[in-house]
Amino acid sequence: MSDILYVISGLLLGLAFQGGLWLFSIPFAVVAFVLGWLNRPSLPPASSVSGAVPVLRATRTTDVTAVGRILRSVPQTGVVSIVRDVFEAYPGVGDSALEKLKGREIWDKMERDLDPVYRSSLQSILSLIPGARSVLLFFKTGDGKAFALRQFASSAEDEIDLMATIPENSGLIGQLARPDILRILEGDLPNGKGLGYYKTISPVHSVVGVPMINSKKQRVGALVVDSLEFKAFPPSIVPILTNFCSTYYLLTYKSFASAQNFREKKKFHELSNYQQNFFTTMPLRDTYKQIFEYVSANFLSDRLMILAFENPERGEGSVALCYGEDSEALQGFKFSVDDKGILPLAMMQHGSSERVFSGRPAEYVLRINDNEPRNLSLRYLFVQSNSMTTDDMAENRPAEIAICLERKNPIKFDQFEKDLLKFLVNIAYFAYQRGRQFEKEQNLAGRDGLTGLMNRHSLDEELKKLDFIHREKNVGVMMMDIDHFKYINDTYGHPAGDDVIRGIANRIVSVAQGEHNVIARYGGEEFVVALPGVSEEVLLEKAEKIREAIGSLSFDIHRPERIPVTVSIGCYLVTPDFKGEMSRTVSYADQALYSAKESGRNRVVEYKKTGTDQQSIDPIQGS
Ligand code: GH3
Ligand code: MG
Ligand code: MG
Repeated sequence: MSDILYVISGLLLGLAFQGGLWLFSIPFAVVAFVLGWLNRPSLPPASSVSGAVPVLRATRTTDVTAVGRILRSVPQTGVVSIVRDVFEAYPGVGDSALEKLKGREIWDKMERDLDPVYRSSLQSILSLIPGARSVLLFFKTGDGKAFALRQFASSAEDEIDLMATIPENSGLIGQLARPDILRILEGDLPNGKGLGYYKTISPVHSVVGVPMINSKKQRVGALVVDSLEFKAFPPSIVPILTNFCSTYYLLTYKSFASAQNFREKKKFHELSNYQQNFFTTMPLRDTYKQIFEYVSANFLSDRLMILAFENPERGEGSVALCYGEDSEALQGFKFSVDDKGILPLAMMQHGSSERVFSGRPAEYVLRINDNEPRNLSLRYLFVQSNSMTTDDMAENRPAEIAICLERKNPIKFDQFEKDLLKFLVNIAYFAYQRGRQFEKEQNLAGRDGLTGLMNRHSLDEELKKLDFIHREKNVGVMMMDIDHFKYINDTYGHPAGDDVIRGIANRIVSVAQGEHNVIARYGGEEFVVALPGVSEEVLLEKAEKIREAIGSLSFDIHRPERIPVTVSIGCYLVTPDFKGEMSRTVSYADQALYSAKESGRNRVVEYKKTGTDQQSIDPIQGS
């Protein structure tokens, strides 16, 4: 039809230039050309689709060799624009980094839900449409300027270009981005070159495609089926595909709602767990860890600090936990009530503070005090200290704990987030109070708060008792230190480091426990064990067992890779001929430990006395 019209328009134009009738014939030529264009066969208007819907039979199930796959995870693809469409319904949403994180989480869930649905249905279409070779689902890229292949089913999997992206208006498929095109129905393709999703020129001869249109009438994707045969698809296939395509949109849209719901449910459980956790009495470090875990998962920041005035009587506080920028310098950073940084000030007021910085050195605002590392890239700060207090609190006493979040991107937290932080820190404060009490009691009982082992003080007491024993029998002394522990702290954070310390303490107990044995946490990541009544052989054997037991530990601390840990152990055997005090023998074990570290770590070294000189160092490596 259009060919005839083109011929007529050509003839009329010819007539016009022949002379005579030109004024009369040019308008007709133009009309004929336009009619011809509108009727061009490759892109017939949707209104001309008619005829009965064909009955589809499963004829090719065995030919399906490939199923669709996720080709890219979405930030760039069209579903994110769907996600964004919905986000846009809420003011202010969709901009902040946190919203991006939220979008990411929601998208991941959507992807998990939708993937099997897309796959199986594309596969079904492929097997139901006679002659179909590939069925492909495209989504618009995030910028809306191209279609990206999202999933497909094909009997020629290897030929499909997995990274196919078809720009708007480019080739046949690109036409589906045009608002006036409701379908592509091409039965006479010379080859598949113009399709844009085959790697090589393919022998495809027919193709049918429909756009995916969202509720705002925007084109967000497309569904395309092709065949090796000429004129494989009757026009009546178009409404069927249009329907499928609409359901893909609906499914995507519904999965967004469902993923959002899922996320909210998850957040609900996290928050209720957070609250529940603080009803248990635990060491202060665990309280910090709980805060850290919840806050870092729910608030985006480039630095998270938990500050505590653990010694309010003396007006002393410290950064109890720091994660992110400059955390090495700030972990354990001490400060006092007199410091004039905005964090101690907020704590003095039992309140919160919010600042946006320009990043210019001259305008740097002190966080804590003059000794702090000045980081000009952190341009937003929000700090919240506990506002709840107990009645018996002395005047002018600072808040006990505070959470401080800083960001490079100066986007402020919204009111909901600020309220949530206030709630979190106040809830944590109650656990903090009990934790302090618990640690005081532990201390009084001579126990270390983190591991429950004897602390340094009670170790000294126990060693004094052993002064009487070693005159009659041997006492084996071990001093051990975790290898490269700073690396664990720096890489996985202090809370993870604490878990490692605790795990190691448990292992030492499981190997060295005994009625008269002494097991103590000597310092940060150092432990002392004293075993009365052992031979040299047994002492070294036990030490080796501890080393092995710890070496076989590995912590996964919520990460895919496990953290291997080892210890170095120095040993000293106190024999009845030793005339000094037990407390001195710890330093001999320590010297052997030093040798163990020097000679490569993860080993046991015994301090050996030479001749009668008890103090010379001649360590030999143990088994
Ligand atoms: P080496 O193999 O030589 O022992 O290397 P290292 O990295 O283990 O060095 P060192 O023993 O000097 O490191 C001790 C580190 O342990 C420094 C300190 O920050 C950390 N630390 C001390 N006490 C604690 C604690 O209670 N919790 C955590 N997480 N870290 C602690
Ligand atoms: Mg150490
Ligand atoms: Mg160490």
